[in-house]
Amino acid sequence: MSLAEIIPHQLQSNIDHIIDHIEPAVSLTDAEKKTYLIKIKHLLKQKNAVMIAHYYVDDELQALAEETGGYVSDSLDMASFGAQHNASTLVVCGVRFMGETSKILSPQKTVLMPTLKAECSLDLGCPINEFSHFCNQYPDHEVVVYANTSVEVKARADWIVTSSNAVQIIKHLMTQGKKIIWGPDRHLGQYINNKTGADMILWQGHCVVHNEFKRYELEALMRKHPDAEVLVHPESPEPVIAKADFVGSTKQIIAAGQVSKAQTLIIATDYGLFYKMKQVVPDKLLIPAPTSDKSATCKSCAHCPWMAMNTLVNLYEALRGEYNTIEVDEEIRQKALIPLNRMLDFSRQTGILTAGDA
Ligand code: SF4
Repeated sequence: MSLAEIIPHQLQSNIDHIIDHIEPAVSLTDAEKKTYLIKIKHLLKQKNAVMIAHYYVDDELQALAEETGGYVSDSLDMASFGAQHNASTLVVCGVRFMGETSKILSPQKTVLMPTLKAECSLDLGCPINEFSHFCNQYPDHEVVVYANTSVEVKARADWIVTSSNAVQIIKHLMTQGKKIIWGPDRHLGQYINNKTGADMILWQGHCVVHNEFKRYELEALMRKHPDAEVLVHPESPEPVIAKADFVGSTKQIIAAGQVSKAQTLIIATDYGLFYKMKQVVPDKLLIPAPTSDKSATCKSCAHCPWMAMNTLVNLYEALRGEYNTIEVDEEIRQKALIPLNRMLDFSRQTGILTAGDA
């Protein structure tokens, strides 16, 4: 086994342990929620702050971001919005690497998050020292990493890609005769490899949400809904992707749902996306793709445990006290900016979407 398999395998029990010890969010009464919403709206104005939320956080946070002039999107699009907005404080509701990506593009702004404990299994499964050591073994390979990585891993990369533009960027590198190290998501890496035939070595990380989608259960659901279209995020396992009518990033899934003629959509991604999907296709029946559900292996059951750590309560506390700010070493930020700008420039020049997701 290579380090690309050994390290993620060794880290898996740590990741499971972290998930098992995430405390469930305190549930609020309607009256309490109303009070928090009023106080947060007041603080956002007072502190010249704007909320930027990921598609996978809870509905009430996505709704609050929209209502207060903020934004709901995928990770890179969130960071781009924050960089262009005139607020001095960006309140990033999502997971830590999203706060870091916002800070890379907006170093002069305060970037704070409801909690800094909101991690990501892809980020946790790809620590910088081990990944860098692995990359050093293949000096003739181009290092291409997914946006779902720490700022240090981004700084080690030659290219950062998203699930919207990964295939095009890998094809571009193939025209230059490049061999590729891909990290950290093995399913997305395999999907890209199948689409392009590139010479790729895959780091074997995975997303705890998408890894749970199951082919046989999906086939049973498809039999019950023979007219449904199946929309799948490429962080899902290969047998699930094989059943898809459409494979794409969160943004692309939303767009595909809009143009689809099907009245029923089966969707394999975090069910947080359903908030936005219901806005854009209110008349369609949306069905979450099945996971292993109550079986012993299910860690996420189609909702990211770290995204769920963002709440009205910790959002209010962080904003009020200006806690949980994201700090990034300037030298590392500058290094991470190079592959990030490389991706942005390539995507602008080729007219492909720049926004990707988590
Ligand atoms: S849904 Fe998966 S990829 Fe996204 S933040 Fe959670 S663990 Fe990471």
